[in-house]
Amino acid sequence: LTQATGYEDVGMTSRFMAAVKRGLLQVHYQPVMNANNPGRVVGVEALARWHDDEYGWVSPASFIPLAENLGLINEVGRQVLEQALHHFSQCSGASAGLKLAVNISKRQLMSEDFYPMLLGMVQEFGLSPGQIKLEITESIALHGIEVAKGYLQKLSDAGFALSLDDFGTGFSSLSHVHELPFDEIKIDISFVRRIKTPEGRVLVKTIVEMAHAMQLSLVAEGVEDHETALILQGMGVE
Ligand code: MG
Ligand code: MG
Repeated sequence: LTQATGYEDVGMTSRFMAAVKRGLLQVHYQPVMNANNPGRVVGVEALARWHDDEYGWVSPASFIPLAENLGLINEVGRQVLEQALHHFSQCSGASAGLKLAVNISKRQLMSEDFYPMLLGMVQEFGLSPGQIKLEITESIALHGIEVAKGYLQKLSDAGFALSLDDFGTGFSSLSHVHELPFDEIKIDISFVRRIKTPEGRVLVKTIVEMAHAMQLSLVAEGVEDHETALILQGMGVE
């Protein structure tokens, strides 16, 4: 981002820093639907959004890397988590069995205070870990399987559901996935977008078969039309 857009970034960088400092990031929610019971929302994914008076809606594809470069990703993650847990604790869906999914960055997960902070917040808002799903990308495996396992097992033992986010975009091997305590795989949107092509279908089918062989459930990202939903449902995506 910094190299691509030159001078403008200085302005955006300082405005972003101010927004984080003032807690102006918003959390929006994307529904997660049950494919076998169309129309039934089974959960929501909390997504960070930033609206700036000067730049308008800035894509997370821009501000998340910015937060990482500025060393603000833990603070951004903390704010999103707090807002999401707060909203969720106020919503009737929480008692109706909906799950709240929150994206957790690798750096956040590996920071020392993350685990106690997460448990403290969940308790503070009167929620239980079983209501929360943590979405983590496979980049966690880059630090070695044993290291990744250490962080993840603790969360899994505490009762949180673990979802392997953006699956298929990283480099971790299938054996790695199998060794980590994930409950679910999220098929990356790039595969879902190609589902109407023969090649895309083969890729998704392969992921579905693999996940089911490992007893993992499947969520597909970015389903925006009926035809895509039907294809995925036919393939066994839950
Ligand atoms: Mg996610
Ligand atoms: Mg994702």
